[in-house]
Amino acid sequence: STLYTRPGELGSIVPLKPRYDNFIGGDWVKPVKGAYGEDLAPATGLAFTEYARSTPEDIDLAVAAAKAAFPVWSRSSTTERAAALDAIADRLQLHLESIAVLESWENGKPVRETLAADIPLAIDHFRYFAAAIRTQQGNIKKLDNNLISYHYYEPIGVVAQIIPWNFPILMAAWKLAPALAAGNTVVLKPASATPVSILYVMELIQDLLPAGTVNIVNGGGATLGKSLVEHDDIGKVAFTGSTATGREIMQYAIKNIIPSTMELGGKSPNIFFDDVAREKDDFYRKAVEGFTMFALNKGEVCSCPSRALLQKGLIGAGFLDDALDRVKRIVVGDPLDTATEMGPQNSREQVEKISGYLDLGPQEGCEVLAGGRRAELGGDLAGGYYIEPTVFRGRNDMRVFQEEIFGPVVTVATFDDYDDAIEVANDTIYGLGSAVWSRDTDVTFAASQDVRAGRVWVNTYHQYPAGAGFGGYKQSGYGRETDQQTLTNYQEVKNVLENHDQKPL
Ligand code: NAD
Repeated sequence: STLYTRPGELGSIVPLKPRYDNFIGGDWVKPVKGAYGEDLAPATGLAFTEYARSTPEDIDLAVAAAKAAFPVWSRSSTTERAAALDAIADRLQLHLESIAVLESWENGKPVRETLAADIPLAIDHFRYFAAAIRTQQGNIKKLDNNLISYHYYEPIGVVAQIIPWNFPILMAAWKLAPALAAGNTVVLKPASATPVSILYVMELIQDLLPAGTVNIVNGGGATLGKSLVEHDDIGKVAFTGSTATGREIMQYAIKNIIPSTMELGGKSPNIFFDDVAREKDDFYRKAVEGFTMFALNKGEVCSCPSRALLQKGLIGAGFLDDALDRVKRIVVGDPLDTATEMGPQNSREQVEKISGYLDLGPQEGCEVLAGGRRAELGGDLAGGYYIEPTVFRGRNDMRVFQEEIFGPVVTVATFDDYDDAIEVANDTIYGLGSAVWSRDTDVTFAASQDVRAGRVWVNTYHQYPAGAGFGGYKQSGYGRETDQQTLTNYQEVKNVLENHDQKPL
C-alpha cells in the first residue's frame, strides 16, 4: 500500500493554489461580487483551498467569452479540433497521477479508482471523440433528376453544462469532449462540493484551446443555474445530477426552447439467477464481486447496483453469505492510501442523508445483514465522512428499495422465477443501470430485452467504455453519452435542398 502525501502538506504531487478564481476567456477571473467558499476534503472535513462563489454577473462574463470564441472554434476543421482533443488527452496522460490524487482528495474516492478508472477513462474520452468527429458522416440523396438533398451537422453555439460531484473529472470529460469535437464553445458549472479539480485540469491544458472555448464558473446551482440556462446566448443545456434538479433545469430550458439532455438518478437492479452458484468457480467469484459493486465510489454512483435481486436457490447455495463475507472485508479508509477500497462520502450533507436511510431501513422492517452505521476512523481522519458498507434485506415496496440513497447501501430481495425477477426489476421510477448474471445466454438475452433501463450489463457491472452509449429510461433522463451518437446532442442538422431544374417553379 502506498500513502500519497496530502496535498495540503506538500505541493510536490499537486501544486495547488490557495484560492481558485473562475476560468473565463482563457484567464483567471475573480468573481464580480468577490465571494469565495472553502473547499473541504471529505477525508478530514478540513478546508484545503478556496473557490469562487459566483453570481449571475459572472455567468454573463463567461457566456460572453464563449460567444466571442464561437466563430473561430466552430469554423475550425474537424482535423484541427481532433488534434486539439488528442493533445488534451496526451497532456492529461502526462499528469495522470497528480490529477488522480487531487480528484481523490476533493471527492473522497479511493486513489486506486481515480488512477485506474476515472482519469484513464476521461483521457480516453477525448481520444474517442477526436476520432468520432473525423468519421461522422452526413448524407446525400438525389430526390429526382434535378433535386439533390443533403444533410450535414453544424455546432449549436454556446452550450451550458452542469455536472455533479461524484465523478467530477469524468463527468466533465463526458460533456466537454463531444461538445468541443462538434465545434461548440462551453460554459461549464461544476458542483460546489468539487469545484477545483476541473480548474486544475484547465490550468494544465489551457494553452491547447483558443481562449474562451471552455469557461468554468463555480458557485451554487440554485444561484447560477437559472441565469445560465435561461441566458439568451445559450443554445443547449446538458445536465447530470439528481432527477429533482433535472426537472427544474428542464423548466429553464423552456424559456428559449433550447434542447436539453438529462442524465439523472437511478435505483438499478442487479439480478442474480440460481445457476450462478452451480459451481464455485471464477464465474461465481466474479458474480460475488458484482454484488459488492454497490460500494464502488462509496455508492455515490447514479447507476449504483443498489437493489440486488437474488433467485431463492442462491440463499441455500451460500451466495449471499459469500457476498456478505466480501462486503465485511471492504477496506474503508484514507482515500489516498492505495489499499483503501472505500473512502469517505463526499460531504456532511451526504452522510446525514444516508444516515437517515440507515435508520429508515430497520424501521421499515429490513434485516441489517452488514454495516448500518457510520464508520469511526481515528487520527486526522476522525472528522471525515465515513459510512460502513451496508446490506439490508427486505421487500421492493419499501422506501429504501425505491428511493435513491446515493451511499454504500444495497437492499436485497429474493425472487421465484424469471417473470418475478423482471417485474421487481422494473418496479421503479428509474431506468438507468441494471445487470443480469446467469450462465444461460437465453436468460441473459431475454432479460436484456425485458429490463426497462438504458444500460443492461450482462455478467459484469460498472464498465463505462467509450463506444457504449450511456443514459436513462423513465425518470433517469434522456439522451445518450459516451458514444458517437452523443455528437448529435451538440449539433443542429442542416438540410440543403438544391434545385438544378431551370424551368420556372
Ligand atoms: P444535484 O442535482 O444536486 O446537483 C448537480 C448539479 O446541479 C450541481 O452542479 C449543482 O450545483 C447544480 N444545481 C443544483 N440546483 C440547481 C438548479 N436549481 N439549477 C441549476 N443547477 C443546479 O446532484 P448531485 O447531488 O450533485 O449529484 C448526485 C445526483 O446525480 C444523483 O441523483 C445521481 O444519480 C446523479 N447522477 C447521474 C448520472 C448519470 O449519468 N445519469 C451521473 C452521475 C450522477
